[in-house]
Amino acid sequence: MSVVDRQEWDVVVVGAGGAGLRAAIEARERGARTAVICKSLFGKAHTVMAEGGIAAAMGNVNSGDDWKVHFRDTMRGGKFLNQWRMAELHAQEAPQRVWELETWGALFDRTKDGRISQRNFGGHEYPRLAHVGDRTGLELIRTLQQKIVSLQQEDFRETGDYESRLKVFQECTVTRVLKDGPRVSGVFGYERESGRFFVLEAPAVVVATGGIGKSFKVTSNSWEYTGDGHALALLAGAPLLNMEFVQFHPTGMVWPPSVKGILVTESVRGDGGVLRNSEGRRFMFGYIPDVFKEKYAQSEDEGDRWYDDPDHNRRPPELLPRDEVARAINAEVKAGRGSPHGGVFLDVSTRMPAEVIKRRLPSMYHQFKELADVDITAEAMEVGPTCHYVMGGIAVDSDSAAARGVPGLFAAGEVAGGMHGSNRLGGNSLSDLLVFGRRAGWHAADHAAGAARPRVDDAQVDTAAAEALRPFSAEGEEPVEGPPENPYGVHQELQQTMNDLVGIIRREHEMEQALAKLAELRVRARRAGVEGHRQFNPGWHLALDLRNMLLVSECVARAALERTESRGGHTREDHSAMERSWRNVNLVCALTDPTGGLAGTDSVRGQIALSRETTEPIRPDLLALFEKEELVKYLAEEELYD
Ligand code: FAD
Repeated sequence: MSVVDRQEWDVVVVGAGGAGLRAAIEARERGARTAVICKSLFGKAHTVMAEGGIAAAMGNVNSGDDWKVHFRDTMRGGKFLNQWRMAELHAQEAPQRVWELETWGALFDRTKDGRISQRNFGGHEYPRLAHVGDRTGLELIRTLQQKIVSLQQEDFRETGDYESRLKVFQECTVTRVLKDGPRVSGVFGYERESGRFFVLEAPAVVVATGGIGKSFKVTSNSWEYTGDGHALALLAGAPLLNMEFVQFHPTGMVWPPSVKGILVTESVRGDGGVLRNSEGRRFMFGYIPDVFKEKYAQSEDEGDRWYDDPDHNRRPPELLPRDEVARAINAEVKAGRGSPHGGVFLDVSTRMPAEVIKRRLPSMYHQFKELADVDITAEAMEVGPTCHYVMGGIAVDSDSAAARGVPGLFAAGEVAGGMHGSNRLGGNSLSDLLVFGRRAGWHAADHAAGAARPRVDDAQVDTAAAEALRPFSAEGEEPVEGPPENPYGVHQELQQTMNDLVGIIRREHEMEQALAKLAELRVRARRAGVEGHRQFNPGWHLALDLRNMLLVSECVARAALERTESRGGHTREDHSAMERSWRNVNLVCALTDPTGGLAGTDSVRGQIALSRETTEPIRPDLLALFEKEELVKYLAEEELYD
């Protein structure tokens, strides 16, 4: 048996992005001794990369805004598949969470009269995104870190130890959630630098690990987003919801190849940037779907007037929800009207003076100058879709963020499902992670206070350690014998498979091909072998991450094959319409092996069982916020009748 350090905590938070840090602050403030674990350095989470802003109906720039309008926009964006109670709580509580950040020291951009400024974004009826230039995530994380340090200083004054009640374990990876019977008993992980194993025992675990983008070849996500939390929950017995919904952001860089996929923020369009094809035409006017026709400008003049007079004009179609814009770009490129490097043109240079561009979009200016040698104040950018966000995630209770079926397990942020339905609106992730991060921390602390301390099963710890060590002795592993596989090679094949066969436009036979390929890769991944030792060994880290990416990818492919319609982030070429009969159907993925794979029963035929579930009916007072004519376009026949 390997040497494993052990510690006891009340709440363990896996992930130190916005959701994890907000959860940790809440749990600690409610009296729980709280540990936070993250793969990279403290402060370097995905959240830090967020550019555009935090959506919250504060009504600072347009007083017409309130939570009901935000709720409506969110439901429309998600094509009514959102877990409506989450969308309600989110819209109601987001403003409070932004003001709270300000009291903790966040410095937002201001309006002329000194209030927090708010900018336009796709799918939001009013200017709603509180922002700090195009570096909002950095300010959010900086503020939460500062709050954590201030809590640690308080603890030092009382106990003489900064980390007595709130401790961050950085550069550590969790590979298993441990269980005592049906409930959570802690986590097993390793230090990335030393390779040493550890167990943190706790009655409550909050999973806040972010997204899954690294399963796709072209992505805006960084190396950390290998779907770990999704897989940890699955393996612990919690189901995943609606994994077919993966958001392809319409505007990633397409050139040069080394930076393909890096995000070009939606603020570029929110602030006036327009999309053109190779013929110079603003093609988005030709792609306004019926459900949005009344809300979007029908001519360029009207769209342009909207920026100065939004009360008397409709917004330009460049600001349609992301799924619509991504599909339109894809169609233009396919029709041969793309840019030289396979994207389309995004232009601010003819729309704003150079100094305004540099002031409002400083990161974009530097990004293009440094990475592509393009001066966006003088020429158009080339952009195309990039895998950006996963709407699917751990099935949670809307109010408490408790993961379904596993007492003591909670989830918040991108890893949790339900909130965004089939498509997330820009800005709604930062607000989501603040609202539900707080709720997860609160309920995890309550759970820990009310629960007897769990018992950690030594056999589970041994199995988790053996699983983690397997890449060092991969040769000849069952079920296929042979030399070890290179984890980087398997990863590349996985990314190519997901990109080509389960990407932005999906077809039945391609997804079947993808599932067959995933089964093959799963077998090969079990033989992913590494050389050397456990001290900072990136090949080993990747070999372990492969299990997670493959599990999650199988969920995405299975659910995408099952949903025979197009909705939000899921587009089927062979079922191109949005079907009202699918409106109230959730697809749920669970593990077929109830031991969570600890018995090593990885089979070629797959591990994921998929089932259909009917969604909870939307509460009548929330339905009453919409016009009947609009509901008719979305709701299933029987729901309308009810
Ligand atoms: P993350 O911030 O992704 O943090 C996850 C944490 O989990 C990290 O600390 C990571 O190290 C840790 N972790 C992962 N696996 C493990 C493991 N096995 N063990 C231990 N720790 C682990 N959204 C908006 O609302 N507005 C925007 O303007 C915006 N801009 C964006 C720009 C870019 C370039 C990108 C990529 C995304 C953007 N988003 C935006 C989306 C948003 O940033 C993310 O959805 C959000 O930050 C996710 O936050 P999170 O707290 O859920 O997870």
